[in-house]
Amino acid sequence: MAVTTGDTRIPFIAGNWKMNLDHLQSIAFVQKLAWTLRDANHDFGDVEVAVFPPFTDLRSVQTLVTADDLQIRFGGQDLSAHDSGAYTGEISGAFLAALDAAYVIIGHSERRQYHGETDELISEKVAAAHRHGIVPVICVGETAEDLEEHGPSAVPVAQLRTALEGAVRGQEIVVAYEPVWAIGSGQAATSAQAQQVCAALRELLVEVLGDEAAAATRILYGGSVKAANIAGFLKEPDVDGALVGGASLQLEEFASIVRFKSHVGTL
Ligand code: PEP
Repeated sequence: MAVTTGDTRIPFIAGNWKMNLDHLQSIAFVQKLAWTLRDANHDFGDVEVAVFPPFTDLRSVQTLVTADDLQIRFGGQDLSAHDSGAYTGEISGAFLAALDAAYVIIGHSERRQYHGETDELISEKVAAAHRHGIVPVICVGETAEDLEEHGPSAVPVAQLRTALEGAVRGQEIVVAYEPVWAIGSGQAATSAQAQQVCAALRELLVEVLGDEAAAATRILYGGSVKAANIAGFLKEPDVDGALVGGASLQLEEFASIVRFKSHVGTL
């Protein structure tokens, strides 16, 4: 799927379900989301939509998407840095690719915080995603302490710099800027704060990947996104979409976030 039309990056709204919804619930949810967006005449070429269900749901979601020829895309919430072998509990990028997963979230702050994931491991996971033709959604973001100590951009930029060491040049990546203090807190960054860091991340992309790749790479904002604030983020020049946690589990709210263009003018 194209990520740009002309010089414009296609906005991308991604729903990270985290550890919510089992495989039966995932089928009902994706089906209802598809109906809701169809009834609203949503154009998926205009705003791309993806969901990130738990691993155990992926086969069900794939079957539904294929059978009903849906344009909703899907991905994993993590993957192993390894391709196969004695790694109990791990999921290979090869398995995700076999299920047609287009994307995989890598380095979410909850994995960094609760599973001890380091920048180096995240870089290896980016390499694993690219080995299997899956687009990594690379999450970066500062904690409240980082913000106090280093200012807004230093930590996310350093995290992305290391993550990019694993990226294959010429293959697509998505970057998600998620300030840890904004995740699940109800206290989103302001759109100006998001723009400031996303612009710094794009500068790094220019330095590492070059102008063309940087201009084509989508940078998402994540952290307490809801229907009431999405349009403000998307009017910023370096914010190309959102990674949505809690609100991605509320059908009407998520569909409204996807349809953010219809809120422009209501700000
Ligand atoms: C997330 O976990 O990626 C996230 C952005 O969560 P929330 O939208 O609930 O803040």
